[in-house]
Amino acid sequence: MSQRSYRPNHDWSTSSSKTLQSAKEWCKTCEATHEACNKRKSDETPTRLLDIGSPESTQWRLCFTAEEINELVKFIVRSYRWRPQSQALMLSTSTQRPFRNGLPISELPQTFKDAIKVAHFLGVLNLWIDAVCSFQDSPQDWEYESKMMSAVYSNAYCITAAAASTEPNDSLFRKRNPEDILPGLAEVNTKQGDISIRGFFLLITHKSWQRELQASVLQSRGWCSQERILALRVLHFGERQLSWECGTSVRNECLVDNFPAVQLAHEKLHFRIAAIS
Ligand SMILES: [Zn+2]
Repeated sequence: MSQRSYRPNHDWSTSSSKTLQSAKEWCKTCEATHEACNKRKSDETPTRLLDIGSPESTQWRLCFTAEEINELVKFIVRSYRWRPQSQALMLSTSTQRPFRNGLPISELPQTFKDAIKVAHFLGVLNLWIDAVCSFQDSPQDWEYESKMMSAVYSNAYCITAAAASTEPNDSLFRKRNPEDILPGLAEVNTKQGDISIRGFFLLITHKSWQRELQASVLQSRGWCSQERILALRVLHFGERQLSWECGTSVRNECLVDNFPAVQLAHEKLHFRIAAIS
């Protein structure tokens, strides 16, 4: 790749089709080439799922899987900072009937619409969101569902993590200046012993990873860190960019290739250089 051909695919929002296309490509690569990432840990399906239909669908409905689904289905789990008093939409004995009958997507809180937009973009038709898939007014259901949590997170196709959101109704997406996530570019012409190093290199600070993920508001919540460990794939929606973790690779929008997680997390590593010519 020459300096001139390096054209990062960034734009002004993490919600744009251009940005979400990166996420789709990370998912596709993982599905097509990562053997370890394609093994569900069990055949357990969540008790209830949101059926969001095709991208053209204008309705969503709550599906009781034992009664309505006879096969393994792909589903996405939404990971976010939970605050009971701010919960805009909850399953209860009084909301069960309208949820099962179906409701317009347009009337959902923005954050739910965001989760549906991502799922549709990735070609997944089912979502699991704790507040809507487990009864919030039933201690018995809560107890049962809390025991199922690890199976839900470890069998999900992907987890979408609202890494920058402080409360449940906050949007998953952020506006940004694309310049803020561009790696630095340096022309290098030096020698190390007998080896000449010449060319253009990207300078990538480990802080881009630390800032977006390790120090994000979501990771400050213990349960969300557990969700991340259980998951096969996690798509993090950060303050400035999208990041990806699966069992085989770690990516974000400013990295041009797979990046070893251990190096990203290393406090003493200020820059990694990636040759682009
Ligand atoms: Zn993978």
